[in-house]
Amino acid sequence: MLNGTTTEILPREALRINPAKTCQPIGAMYAALGIHRCMPHSHGSQGCCSYHRSHLTRHHKEPVMATTSSFTEGASVFGGLSNMTQALKNIFSIYEPDIVAVHTTCLSEVIGDDIPMMIKKSQEDGTIPPGKHVIHTNTPSFTGSHVTGFANMVRSTLRYLAESTGTTRDQLNILPGYVDPADMREIKRLAALMGVDAVVLPDTSNVLDTAQTGTYEMYPKGGTTIDQIRSTGDSIATLALGHFASLPAATELENKCTVPAVPLDLPFGLGPTDAFVDALRQYGAVDVPEQIEEERGRLVDLMGDLHQYFFGKRVAVCGDPDHVIALVQFLVELDMKPAYVFTGTPGQHFERRVAEILKDHAPNAVIKQNADMFELHQLMKREPVDLLISNTYGKYIARAENVPFVRFGFPILDRAGHRCFPAAGYMGGMRLVEKISDALLDKKDRECEEEWFELVQ
Ligand code: SF4
Repeated sequence: MLNGTTTEILPREALRINPAKTCQPIGAMYAALGIHRCMPHSHGSQGCCSYHRSHLTRHHKEPVMATTSSFTEGASVFGGLSNMTQALKNIFSIYEPDIVAVHTTCLSEVIGDDIPMMIKKSQEDGTIPPGKHVIHTNTPSFTGSHVTGFANMVRSTLRYLAESTGTTRDQLNILPGYVDPADMREIKRLAALMGVDAVVLPDTSNVLDTAQTGTYEMYPKGGTTIDQIRSTGDSIATLALGHFASLPAATELENKCTVPAVPLDLPFGLGPTDAFVDALRQYGAVDVPEQIEEERGRLVDLMGDLHQYFFGKRVAVCGDPDHVIALVQFLVELDMKPAYVFTGTPGQHFERRVAEILKDHAPNAVIKQNADMFELHQLMKREPVDLLISNTYGKYIARAENVPFVRFGFPILDRAGHRCFPAAGYMGGMRLVEKISDALLDKKDRECEEEWFELVQ
C-alpha cells in the first residue's frame, strides 16, 4: 500500500505525511480517566470528542466516557460560555461525577474561550454543586501532541488540587507517564513490593482494563482519588517517569509545594527499570527485596540466551518520545543498532537525550523529533533495517519493506494483548525481548532455505 514512497528526500517545513502523533485532547482525556470518578469534558464540537473517545476505545478495547460542550456555529461566533454552563448542569445532574476535567480543542482555543472565568462563574452561580470539582487544561492541538495534552492535564490536576499542610507524609508520588494501564499496574506492583507507599497519578488501571463482570460501571473502582491527589503536596518526592509526559507536572508540584521532582526515564528495559527501582530504594528508604532481584536476574538471563539473534541488528524506532528514549536504551543493552529514531512530538530534549545514549554505540543513527513516518519509510528504503518498532501505523511500512515488526506504544489499534501485559519493569522487559526475538525468528522461519529451517533455535 505504500509502494509509492520515494527514496528522494526533499526538504519539507510545513507538511507532515503520516505524522507520528495525534492531537492534544486525546492525552488530556486519557489522563483525566485516571482520576477516580472523573468525567473528562471536551470544550469544543462533538466531532472532536467523538474522535478522541473512539481512538482511545480502539486502543484500550474498552468504552471511554467523556462529555462535550457541543459547539455549533453560535458558540463558534459568540463563545462557548452558555454551552459550558449547560454542559456542567447536565453532567452533574445526570452523570454525578466527583470531578469534571475540562480540556479545550482547536476551536475553543482559536476563539479564545476563557475557561477559568467560566469555572469561576459556574462556582459562583451554583452550577457546580458543593463538594464537587471542575479543573481545566488548555490543549490547543495545533501545537504539541497527545503527549503534550497528557502532560498538561496532569500538571493542571496538581495545580488545582495538590495541597501542602506543612507536614511531610511517608509516601512518594509517582507520575507514570503516558503508559498503558498494565504498565501503571506494574509500576504500582514494584512500588508495593519495595514497601513504598505511593500515589500514582494518573492511574488508569482498573479503569481501562477492568474485569468483565457483566455490569457496566461508569466510574470503575480504579483511578487516583481526589484525597490522594491533595496529599501529593506532602509527599517526600515525586518520581517523574518521562521528561515529556511527567516532568512538567512534577516541576509544577515542586514549585507549588516544594516536593522535590526526581526526573527519570520510563522504566522500560533493564537500565531504566534499575534507575526506577533505585529511586524507590533511595527516596523510600527501603531495601530491594529478593523477588525483584530475581525478576531482574530472569530478564538478564533471557537477554543472554537470545543475544545471538539481537547482536548488530539494525532497528528503526518510532513512537512517543518518553517511550522511545527508554526503548533505545534497552536496544543498546541488547546489542542491537538503532539506525533511525523518530518521534512526532516536538522537543529538542529528545534528540539530545537519544544522541547521548547512542554516542558510543550508534553515533551515525538518524534521530528526529517533530518528524513523520513518511520520512522514516524513505530512510528505510534507502538503507534497510532488520526490525521496525512502532505503533500500529508502522504496519504499512513493515509490509511494504517486508521487515519484522513489533508493535509498541500508542496507539495499538489492531491487536489487544498490550492492555493485559506490561512493557514496564523487568517483567515487561522480558515480554519485549520475547516479542522482538519472535518477530526476527518468525521471518527467518518463513524465508530461510529448507536446510536452515531448524526445529531447535
Ligand atoms: S486536531 Fe483539533 S479539530 Fe482536530 S480533532 Fe483534534 S482538537 Fe479537534
